[in-house]
Amino acid sequence: MQTFKKNDGASWNRGVWKIFGVDENNISCEHPCDSLRRLWMISDFNHLLKCFRTSTLDDRLQEFKTPYGTVKKRHWEALLEEENYRQPNMKIAYKLTPAHLNPKGFQAMNVPLATEVFGHEVSVAMAHYQPMCNKLKDSTPTQKFIDLIFNLVQAMSSRIPRDALYVKDDCRNKQAILKFLQFFEDWEKFEKKIPVSRSTSVGLKVTLRATLEILDMLKDVCDFKYLMTATLSQDPLERFFSVMRYSCGGNDHPDPKMFAQVYRLASSFSLIRPPRECNVSGTDLLKSLVDAKEVLTSSNKDSKGLWLQSIDDMLESTELILKGSSIDTDHDYNEAVTSDAVQSYIAGYIVRKLKKIVKCVNCLQCIQMSAEAGKKLQRNDVICKMDLYGGLLFASNELFSLTKQLEKCVLRAISKNLTNLETISDISIELKKEVLLKVGCFEHEYKLTKKIIDIYIVMRAHFLVKSANRRYDEAKIKTKTNRKNAKLLS
Ligand SMILES: [Zn+2]
Repeated sequence: MQTFKKNDGASWNRGVWKIFGVDENNISCEHPCDSLRRLWMISDFNHLLKCFRTSTLDDRLQEFKTPYGTVKKRHWEALLEEENYRQPNMKIAYKLTPAHLNPKGFQAMNVPLATEVFGHEVSVAMAHYQPMCNKLKDSTPTQKFIDLIFNLVQAMSSRIPRDALYVKDDCRNKQAILKFLQFFEDWEKFEKKIPVSRSTSVGLKVTLRATLEILDMLKDVCDFKYLMTATLSQDPLERFFSVMRYSCGGNDHPDPKMFAQVYRLASSFSLIRPPRECNVSGTDLLKSLVDAKEVLTSSNKDSKGLWLQSIDDMLESTELILKGSSIDTDHDYNEAVTSDAVQSYIAGYIVRKLKKIVKCVNCLQCIQMSAEAGKKLQRNDVICKMDLYGGLLFASNELFSLTKQLEKCVLRAISKNLTNLETISDISIELKKEVLLKVGCFEHEYKLTKKIIDIYIVMRAHFLVKSANRRYDEAKIKTKTNRKNAKLLS
């Protein structure tokens, strides 16, 4: 058996590395208790990534040179601007927010903020807007840089066998780690002073090389097929210690003896046990759970029925509500527009959802477009760029136009009011003003169109709720800081 030791990037942990004689040239040492075993040192990858993000996307730095070219922070900022961050339109890099670029206070410790700034969709969005946006004209090095980090993050955070690290040389994740190590070496040769601190760069190199060596060792000695790299981060260790300390009762700082005892107990302790001396007896608990569930489903059914009924009314009614009244045009202050490329991507997603339920061959032909024909169309640019794993679908022109109509109605409905309880009915009022296209074969046209409208609007409502919640959270944080500042001044 071999062992590895993981820790975060704090300086005292680096002191341990020094004592064991571990540095970037020598990443493992002999186990102090057993000369047959090796001891590897690993730093927490998420912590390293956060340090890497903080030092590369620094406001004082703004841009830095790499072997790929000059990477600039304003490319990320230009992207936020280009996609109208504040507007409710659908976006390619939908996760990116200003907080990703300038994390404040505790946000600096947030792992998703660090991984999402190097997301695949960010580089795809940059590539897509590059021809149109002047500020993104020179963003090719930034895109390459983002892709490099994205692939590395994927390789170092695998949680399922499919994404795991394999020994074979054509493993995508292994390639990603090797590519990053090579890039780092080139970078240090290319530039005298790279923006990444010495401790972070040593940590990254040692951790990545140790990961590859542990993988080889696990294959040779233990006959493992793959390594799920998420287990190498510090989280599982922290989880384990928190369970242990929690189990010690009032004593938060158990001594080694007590720790060993509790560990033995915990190893044989079954977690699935009915709560003792619980004031609700088993049958009552079950009943209340079942009842609560029924309440939810029945109310859901009612509102769902009403919604489907309103789509029916809309499709059946021949007369249109006259659009373009003066009140409507006066109040159109919100000019959000979802671009065709994003719309096409979403339409492709609708095709994927429909393929599971639609059995009719003619209908399927009406909603989908072949990959060869799809790739030629300008509107499918994002799908082609996004297709990292393959399997994305292309929507037919009819379906695309229908979703475009629906999106227009949605954006018009929310331009008048913020997202609230009435939004869905606002949307259906807007829908009634349009002559919606019908999609599907002659026989199923009505049913299929109804289904598409249902799926699309419900999905869109989910997005709206998410962005509304985000706005609400931001407002709350702002109030909090304002209050704090007021206190400091008074
Ligand atoms: Zn059909």
